[in-house]
Amino acid sequence: MSADGILASAEAIAADVASGKRSAVEVVTSFLAQADRTADTLRTYLHRMPEAALETAAAIDRRRAAKESLGPLAGVPIAIKDNICVRGVPTTCGSRILERYCPPYDAHVIERLRAADAVIVGKTNCDEFAMGSSTENSAYAVTRNPWDPERVPGGSSGGSAATVAACEAPLSLGSDTGGSVRQPAAFCGVYGLKPTYGAVSRYGLVAFASSLDQIGPFARTARDTALVQSAICGRDARDMTSRAEATPIDLNDLERPVAGLTIGVPRAILDEAGDALAPSIRAALTSAASAFERAGATLIDVALPHARYAIATYYLIAPAEASSNLARYDGVRYGVRRGDGDLRAMYEATRGAGFGREVTRRILLGTYALSAGYYDAFYLRAQKVRTLIRQDFLEALGRCDAILMPVTPTPAFPIGEKADDPLAMYLSDIFSIPASLAGVPGLSFPATFDATGLPIGLQLVGRPFDERTILRVARAYEREHDAASRVPPLAAAGGGAP
Ligand code: GLN
Repeated sequence: MSADGILASAEAIAADVASGKRSAVEVVTSFLAQADRTADTLRTYLHRMPEAALETAAAIDRRRAAKESLGPLAGVPIAIKDNICVRGVPTTCGSRILERYCPPYDAHVIERLRAADAVIVGKTNCDEFAMGSSTENSAYAVTRNPWDPERVPGGSSGGSAATVAACEAPLSLGSDTGGSVRQPAAFCGVYGLKPTYGAVSRYGLVAFASSLDQIGPFARTARDTALVQSAICGRDARDMTSRAEATPIDLNDLERPVAGLTIGVPRAILDEAGDALAPSIRAALTSAASAFERAGATLIDVALPHARYAIATYYLIAPAEASSNLARYDGVRYGVRRGDGDLRAMYEATRGAGFGREVTRRILLGTYALSAGYYDAFYLRAQKVRTLIRQDFLEALGRCDAILMPVTPTPAFPIGEKADDPLAMYLSDIFSIPASLAGVPGLSFPATFDATGLPIGLQLVGRPFDERTILRVARAYEREHDAASRVPPLAAAGGGAP
């Protein structure tokens, strides 16, 4: 298959497989070959599954030969973040404590992807238990950014973003608690959608902060992002937060122009960010806003007055939930066990050896925030501020169809730059965390590149369960700009590893 093969959209691949123009085996083989070239350099995967992928592809080809109808993702390779359970396949969450853990079941999203005839090609690297913004907190490997291997791909779903950017797979899934799909998407120049809280069942997603966690897709086109979201969304009885309002997106809706839509820009937040917001990102935002205006959208200023408290609020709520979710890793039920003294000594040895520094920090922060005497002062107050942040968004989205804002204050930063400075790392999520606390959908779309060739993503935030409108706005941008169609030199066919 030619270079076009791995550059093709998931939509085009599925159409070719369904019509018999290409076999699923041929498609999967070409992506596996690309990953053979780049995955070791980029360290995108913790576990690859070429045999299983080729077997699935062959079964799809046999069904086509038997004239059975195929699903909307027929033969399309998809990579899965390593905190989402795939039956019989190692699922470590990037943590030593889950080394060798193989879940005996598929997550809901995996069942849905299999039903759509997608082909799972492996488990991608991530920050341990999805805590981080650079994928440097993985216990196993540091993933590199395909646009500049000396830089981080973002995180925590860094492997999922990088594998799509490097054309090792046209699609992947990540999870987003405070930005972990949107931020790596922006750093790697691909689309990343955090759906509305409740739009996708988390059954089989390893829990980090349950009031925030959402699974979301990465892709190289707006339409492909919608295709995956349509496949995985909706009610599932095994996650009581999942909702029937989350319905598949009609791709025709994405082709409707933006004329008539109102787009809000939170000017005060941008002013307040001052020098912390890179000039290249500020310029990209201004130019995107003008492009939407030229296309007939109405631009308005929106206020999100409580968004400035988002980081402080998130770092009380998310660690509090993490400290209770991670209590289950006790050396008894899952993964590794250390120490052979009494039970308490075994717990201490297992958890001490199994968790990395950032996870330990979060457990300590969260346990403290929840402890008697501090609960009202910290956790309860954070919940109240969270309500105010949600109200800000709902009010703003009552006046506009989508909010346009940055995803990140800077493009991808060098590996190691923030590794020893947790606060600097936390601040890199300043623009993604507000929508997470509000529970509204956020989309990172490839907007442009800075002068050094690093991708810049921008964020569209939408009304609850209105993923289609933010995808439609991004699709309108994609029709006029080429940022989404560029691929990093190392991923281009014939290009060697750096
Ligand atoms: N970077 C944020 C954190 O470390 C968000 C992570 C996420 O969305 N999973 O918590």
